[in-house]
Amino acid sequence: MRLVRLLCGISASLTILTTAASAATCGNSAKGFDGFMKSFRQEAAAQGISQAAISALDDVAYDPSIIKRDRAQNVFSQSFLEFQARMVSDYRIKQGAVLIKKHKAIFDAVEERFGVPGPVIVAFWALETDFGKNIGDLPTLQSLATLAWDCRRPEKFRPQLMAALDLISRGDLTIDELRGAWAGEIGQTQFLPYDYDESAVDFDGDGKRDLRNSIPDVIASSANLLRKHGWQPGQPWLTEVRIPDDLPWDQADIAVQHPRAQWAKWGVKTVGGKPIKADGFPASLHLPMGRNGPAFLAYENFTTAYLKWNESLVYSTTAAYLATRIAGAPRVKPGNGEVEPLSYKQIVALQETLANMGYDVGKIDGKIGKGTRAAVKDVQIKLGLPADSYPTPELLARLRNG
Ligand code: CA
Repeated sequence: MRLVRLLCGISASLTILTTAASAATCGNSAKGFDGFMKSFRQEAAAQGISQAAISALDDVAYDPSIIKRDRAQNVFSQSFLEFQARMVSDYRIKQGAVLIKKHKAIFDAVEERFGVPGPVIVAFWALETDFGKNIGDLPTLQSLATLAWDCRRPEKFRPQLMAALDLISRGDLTIDELRGAWAGEIGQTQFLPYDYDESAVDFDGDGKRDLRNSIPDVIASSANLLRKHGWQPGQPWLTEVRIPDDLPWDQADIAVQHPRAQWAKWGVKTVGGKPIKADGFPASLHLPMGRNGPAFLAYENFTTAYLKWNESLVYSTTAAYLATRIAGAPRVKPGNGEVEPLSYKQIVALQETLANMGYDVGKIDGKIGKGTRAAVKDVQIKLGLPADSYPTPELLARLRNG
């Protein structure tokens, strides 16, 4: 999970650091690392980080194994049905419900204060660390310092390194406690240090914001982060639906909203085949695998809060779907037909073809992100195909022959 999250990056508000170290050069080996750390210490002192916290950098060395892991992430690509089959296990659904019951008082108090329901939080808890079992034990500062020096995304990791020092400086975590996943995520729902620093909550009142060991702190902080990402209390996030064989497919796009009444008019039904509520409530029709795959009505809580937690559509759809399962929804239907997802190599080929045609698909990374979907939709419209934004082997073949 952590890999997806990191690849999606960090909120734009992190571009606050424009001082010496941020302007420093970068490097793809240990050469120059010590000089970088020296200037980073100065910057930390200038930002008011305590000397005790800054001295935590004394034992930090450049770690090539972190860079190796970072580069290995590039081949990650799976369809929603493949990914959810791996991640949404019966164990996680059952255990999620068990934990909501076990910690009912905490979940109730958290929902009262932040407006985020238990299943949503517990689904992230499951996906990120299996309810706190796999929080990682790598030294966070070493990972972040290495990634902050590395040339790939220094602008993302330098503020994270600073935030990690701030966590020590503020007394939330000791140097020894600052350990977690390889790319700097900490605790049971894998907060990056910046989110930890900005949004963690001391909910058990012991004076420390402890996302490693305190379940009340973990639950409340996760809810607080979602709330900051725009979560709207009392509103749904994702509901599976049944769709007809024919729809204005170009409207099935998470960037497009219509009142539920409009979707009802177009023939969208509940998963049990009944009419959906035909009211003015806005919703998007989300087809993560195109018109023949699973179908959902996605609400603003999905298109804002979930996608800010992790902008990967496959991850977010899976997290939101797992939450619905924990809340009692049935297993997802595969859809109206067979969907043959593109392989990693095919996605890369598609992205190259689209880029050659002049589309901005972002990085050629083998992942079907926002840019690729938008380009696919445009090409489908031009070719007179159902414009459901989902690339198929047939579409790829047509483009290559075309
Ligand atoms: Ca606490």
